[in-house]
Amino acid sequence: MENLDFEMRRCLPAELIAFLHIAGEKAGAQEQKLYLVGGAVRDLLLHRPILDLDLVVEGDAPYLARQLAKSDRMGEEKGKGEGRVTVHRQFGTAKFRRGGLNIDVITARSEIYSQPGALPTVQPGTIQDDLLRRDFSINAMAIDLSPASFGQLLDPHGGWNDLEQRRNVRILYERSFIDDATRILRAIRYEKRLGLTLEKNTERLLREHISMLDTISGDRIRHELELILKEDIPEQILERAEVLGVLQQLHPSLRGNGWVAERFRKARQKAIADSALYLLLLTCHFSEADIEHLIARLKIVGELGRNMRQVPRLTEVLPSLDDNALPPSGIYRLLKRYHPKTIAACSLASNSAIIRSNLERYLNHICYVKPLMDGEDLINMGVKPGPRLGSMLETLREARLNGQVITKEDEEALVRQLMRNH
Ligand code: ATP
Repeated sequence: MENLDFEMRRCLPAELIAFLHIAGEKAGAQEQKLYLVGGAVRDLLLHRPILDLDLVVEGDAPYLARQLAKSDRMGEEKGKGEGRVTVHRQFGTAKFRRGGLNIDVITARSEIYSQPGALPTVQPGTIQDDLLRRDFSINAMAIDLSPASFGQLLDPHGGWNDLEQRRNVRILYERSFIDDATRILRAIRYEKRLGLTLEKNTERLLREHISMLDTISGDRIRHELELILKEDIPEQILERAEVLGVLQQLHPSLRGNGWVAERFRKARQKAIADSALYLLLLTCHFSEADIEHLIARLKIVGELGRNMRQVPRLTEVLPSLDDNALPPSGIYRLLKRYHPKTIAACSLASNSAIIRSNLERYLNHICYVKPLMDGEDLINMGVKPGPRLGSMLETLREARLNGQVITKEDEEALVRQLMRNH
């Protein structure tokens, strides 16, 4: 069995190693064994930065987490929110922040899936049980943190070989995608992020079980899609998802083609890329019915849902913006109802240089222009509160946009004129 003590010392900060030693000792003092598992082990072997730590204890995770959060040998200065432990008793899990890392401690468990796509029934188990329930061999390795065997690699499913030699993403058992089809999305995410390939049998089973994605709740699919869209180059994952038929299974109109890739790249170049903007770009060509279908499937709520619904409406307005003689007030009137993110997505999607330029003028300048006078100033001049006051403020804004008023006195003169005309 390999000992990774050397790799750990090379790749992890000394205080983190010290913390892992303390953690192993504290668990050992209660005759429990503690392991570092999952993504941190994988990333350690790949010499990639480690952002989160997943610890598995063959024992009481919440109790151990409280003890560890209290121990102060690691990092004298505590960051914001550090040391506080969040416990989920019913799941036997606890989390806290330490030295800028999220640390999850869970009780080793085995899982049984009674129904495809449903959450499994869980019971306490050994580290072997816990590794067997994981998605892929590369995520099913553990490092022993017990004082007597600190640094020993546990790799019952050949994860290291898959990572270093074969460069494979490989599921652990035939029914894996049936039990939990989120693994279909996870598989292609790791494939592209880590430069691996789906192992042959894994790819065959993935293709065979794509329809199992329908068994997954909207919340879980949305979460996995967000994780994809938060990757550095999400278009690579989407392209693969389209080739495999995964995207179409989520919604028949979703595409991961060159058009999408080019828009995603542009969004990054302009430093406006985030998962919400990417999703708007993915749905730019959707009909209203398609949008509603996707919103319902992914259980999207709040601002993102509102912005998605705005896209087809704004798309209908765009031809009116294909005019380079439009005054700023005209652009303002056409766009004021739309969220800047919706406008940014439509700008990236548009083929017309004139439309893009008008949308960018709005985003970069027009939307920030406000009259110098506010509602109170107008009331002080004798305007009654109500809709007319609102429309006067809009007139002032448009006059300012078109350069018809410059000073506050100009605005006051315009208000007096509007009051006379009423
Ligand atoms: P990432 O760098 O993407 O965060 P990670 O490996 O830390 O990678 P998490 O989503 O935080 O990923 O999950 C932690 C671990 O839990 C994984 O390494 C994997 O072993 C296991 N896991 C997560 N999701 C599943 C799943 N759907 N089925 C089985 N195991 C899973």
